[in-house]
Amino acid sequence: MFEEGKKLIEEAKTIYITAHINPDGDAIGSTYAMYFALKKLNKDVHVIMPAYSDIFEFLPSISICEKSIDCDKYDLLIGMDSSDYSRIAVSKEEYDKARKVLMIDHHQKSNPYGDVRYIYPDISSTSELVYDIISYLNIPIDNVMASYMYMGIMTDTGSFNYSNTSAKTHMVVADLINKGADSTNICKMLNDTIKEAKLFLLKKTIENMEVYFDSKVRYSYVDYDTINSLGLDEEDAEGMTNYLRMVKGTWVAIYVRGKKDGSFKVSMRSSGQVDLSKIAIMFNGGGHPRAAGYTITGDLEVAKNKLLNAIEAVIK
Ligand code: AMP
Ligand code: MN
Ligand code: MN
Repeated sequence: MFEEGKKLIEEAKTIYITAHINPDGDAIGSTYAMYFALKKLNKDVHVIMPAYSDIFEFLPSISICEKSIDCDKYDLLIGMDSSDYSRIAVSKEEYDKARKVLMIDHHQKSNPYGDVRYIYPDISSTSELVYDIISYLNIPIDNVMASYMYMGIMTDTGSFNYSNTSAKTHMVVADLINKGADSTNICKMLNDTIKEAKLFLLKKTIENMEVYFDSKVRYSYVDYDTINSLGLDEEDAEGMTNYLRMVKGTWVAIYVRGKKDGSFKVSMRSSGQVDLSKIAIMFNGGGHPRAAGYTITGDLEVAKNKLLNAIEAVIK
């Protein structure tokens, strides 16, 4: 299954791995698991990680990552959990200098890039895919690698709640726990810990909530000044959409946040009735059926109405 990728890795002496901007648990988990695996093969391996939330700071050796490197000096670039090369943390100019590129991803709709591509939309997470790849390569899994893969799978499956969780996912996770994944602490740090400022962001999100289409759609918006005055950075301003979706009867939840550059980030979650990846693609974004997003650069009200119209056309 991974023969071509194996060849690319075998032929490369120097490798760098990167993931999508605004990295989530899966982007980080898959990247670092692969990093530690390739170190075991004695590769000269590096991680370029875009700015990540400090909630991940407790993870072992997370700070080994670099901001940028001279891409033309390395034999292989591996892009993790990113459906499009424009979303990885390497500029187009640097990307074009890459000698060989390996894409590893699980998005339904993607714009495949690279010399070898592993795209498995039926697998819960890129981290679960990395588990399969590492197993194929016969690389022993230590407790740090197990922790990173566990974290990626846990976060992308909503703690094994979402429909992307398969029986095999549970078997993989059981094996990772057997191999020393720090599961209790990871769940405590990521699911059971919140900054006070984030609680106030939640308050604002609820205050600004609007309800549409027989309460099937919940929308909220928080502007950049509010986020900034709460002392929250970009990554910390995430994670509000799920609260809106959790209200019974909600089909689609939308959370929009203002960004420093004047654009808006749209984050959507569905309870299964609406395929949000299709909606996001209409607005040049992407994602999964139940979690998708895009960026608004123009007028927010106009964009909001377009989005609501697109959703209305599907739910009616
Ligand atoms: P988020 O709401 O930021 O957690 O995003 C949910 C999912 O939507 C992510 O896993 C991405 O796959 C996808 N996504 C979010 N924003 C974008 C974007 N601007 N372009 C493409 N895909 C996106
Ligand atoms: Mn991701
Ligand atoms: Mn993912």
